[in-house]
Amino acid sequence: MSDLKFACPNCGRHLAVDAACAGSQTSCPACGQLIIIPREPAPASAGPTSRPGMPAREPGGRRSWARITALAIGSLLLLAAVAVGSVLIWGKSAAKTVNAQCQAKLEAIRKAGEPASGAELNVWYEQPPAGENAADFFLAGFELVQISAQDANSADLPLIGKGKLPPPGQPLPAAAKKAIGDFLARNRPALEKFEQGARCAKSRYPLDFREGPSMKLKHVSQVKQAA
Ligand SMILES: [Zn+2]
Repeated sequence: MSDLKFACPNCGRHLAVDAACAGSQTSCPACGQLIIIPREPAPASAGPTSRPGMPAREPGGRRSWARITALAIGSLLLLAAVAVGSVLIWGKSAAKTVNAQCQAKLEAIRKAGEPASGAELNVWYEQPPAGENAADFFLAGFELVQISAQDANSADLPLIGKGKLPPPGQPLPAAAKKAIGDFLARNRPALEKFEQGARCAKSRYPLDFREGPSMKLKHVSQVKQAA
């Protein structure tokens, strides 16, 4: 599990949460403001926790004034280290709080019987048995659709070609009727698949939800074309 680091957009506190919590809402442990955990780690803003520039190491002088300077720088370094350390410890406990809030929300979703990850969604969104999956028929139909260049350029074929539908109430011209009839006859096998699909009560396209928002929905444009 990788950590997602981001700064609270309200108070600037640097926070780190489990990457699985990206996109969910939580309250900032520092200022209490409701915030959305970003999906991408935001560039760290110069907030109150920005690390102070470390002074160069003391040169370990031989003369007494140099020793005093070294001691003074040493104490300052120690103080700075303690300050940075306490901020880091504080930040860690803040991250723990955010993580716990986020995990509790994910747990609540799971308790309600709903998926909280892509892998869980894959299981939850059940695959209908063979022969009962509308998506299988539609995918087979998409492969069978035949739209030739002649169809696309046809002056008689409306919608698919360049033919125009008559105004409402006017009959279809005979040439258009023939063009539509020919086109449908040629695409009978595809239409039969679409009809079979339409009779199925269940449908699931072969998608892997673990891919998340970058998942490709190849079938969407095909469904649009078939419609
Ligand atoms: Zn905050």
